[in-house]
Amino acid sequence: MIKAVIFDVDNTLIDFIRMKNMTLEAAASAMIDAGLKEKKEKIIRRLWEILDEFGYEDSTVFQKYLKKVIGKVDDKILANAINAYRRVRYGYLEPYPHVMSTLIKFKEKGVKLAILSDAPRLKAWIRLSAMRLDSFFDAVVAFEDTKKHKPARKPFMVVLKKLNLKPEECLMIGDRPERDIKGAKAVGIQTCYARYGNWRKEKTDADYTVDDFSEILKIVG
Ligand SMILES: [Mg+2]
Repeated sequence: MIKAVIFDVDNTLIDFIRMKNMTLEAAASAMIDAGLKEKKEKIIRRLWEILDEFGYEDSTVFQKYLKKVIGKVDDKILANAINAYRRVRYGYLEPYPHVMSTLIKFKEKGVKLAILSDAPRLKAWIRLSAMRLDSFFDAVVAFEDTKKHKPARKPFMVVLKKLNLKPEECLMIGDRPERDIKGAKAVGIQTCYARYGNWRKEKTDADYTVDDFSEILKIVG
């Protein structure tokens, strides 16, 4: 019997890629308005390349971009990019459809809920709070809690300890086969692939696959 559900955050609860794309679009337009002579699509593509290389949490993406493209950090252009990014960032932070109603149903059933994210702790909390999801969880484990990323064993062991449950009593939901599913399987946690959050539609050997968040209810029963 499943007594707890453990959720990844980015692209599992939140449409993180959509949010990021919106912020980069706004920043690109603002940089053009501030005098940058580049095509918007090209700017967005380069910004994504930088994020792919340095990680989605990289906080100096615009500085890196400007250095690469115009050879220096122009503070007027940078300021416009940062302001546009900040204006949009939390405005587009939406949970996927049926996240809120499904979490409420789990709470009513007495199923424990946990977060297991590779994101820095404060950023994870900011995202959960912006979506008003922060009071649902019995345990939250983020990067600083173990200094290890999934699929390492430690983050999974720490969340199990916080929940005080055995691996087979828990179900891990995540969008990344190589991180969420592989890591959970290795310690004996049941697994569910959030395929709706994986734009590459990667293959996986997860125990379950869902294309809508509410389908998790049927698995837990
Ligand atoms: Mg994820």
